[in-house]
Amino acid sequence: MSIKNNLNNITRTIPENVTLIAVSKTQPAASVLEAYQAGQRAFGENKIQEMVEKFDILPKDIEWHMIGHLQSNKVKYMAHFVHLIHGVDSFKTLQEINKQALKHNRSINCLLEIKIASEATKFGLSFAEAEELLKSEELKSLKNINIAGLMGMASFTDGQEIIRGEFKSLKYFFDSLQKYKSFNVNPAILSMGMSGDYEIAIEEGSTMIRVGSAIFGLRNYN
Ligand SMILES: *Cc1c(COP(=O)(O)O)cnc(C)c1O
Repeated sequence: MSIKNNLNNITRTIPENVTLIAVSKTQPAASVLEAYQAGQRAFGENKIQEMVEKFDILPKDIEWHMIGHLQSNKVKYMAHFVHLIHGVDSFKTLQEINKQALKHNRSINCLLEIKIASEATKFGLSFAEAEELLKSEELKSLKNINIAGLMGMASFTDGQEIIRGEFKSLKYFFDSLQKYKSFNVNPAILSMGMSGDYEIAIEEGSTMIRVGSAIFGLRNYN
């Protein structure tokens, strides 16, 4: 199957209110271009360096999504163009994003990453930590960020009911956040679902899915 066919098969089946992010990490720029020519505009990368390299050589109407865990010292390299940062899990990172966004006189959209999987290695805030952050006075000082919603990754398991339960809990938490709405907190995006579980994620209320291998084929690493 070609990239174009894979993309068509997915976009045909997902509801209109769900945004597809094509996860192009480790894929060559030529593959991104192939997806672009098939009409795809939103791409996700998990390494800042790799995203910057692709941004530099690819069409400028691509929306670049940073979906990986962030190293604060590298935020500056993408601050002028990144469309949405999915994996924010500390106030310190938000501060750094705010500082770099200010330098470019823009506001950067961020999602708080929530740990819903049971694996010990996954990044993310607990529900309680996220609420703490959203309630904090210090958050009000960050004028150049917008918390646009939440991101989560389900456990790596064949247990469909486990995955569904994790997505359900994230959606429930997401719905409870409207009370924190403010000038820089506007929860509208729920980023959950990957190649193996995006159908379940959509059933459970996802508005943004991050799909890599089902579009580009299997990766050698990551
Ligand atoms: C790699 C990755 C994806 C895409 O994974 P696939 O299983 O290839 O669809 C989605 N989200 C994050 C955070 C990733 O790192």
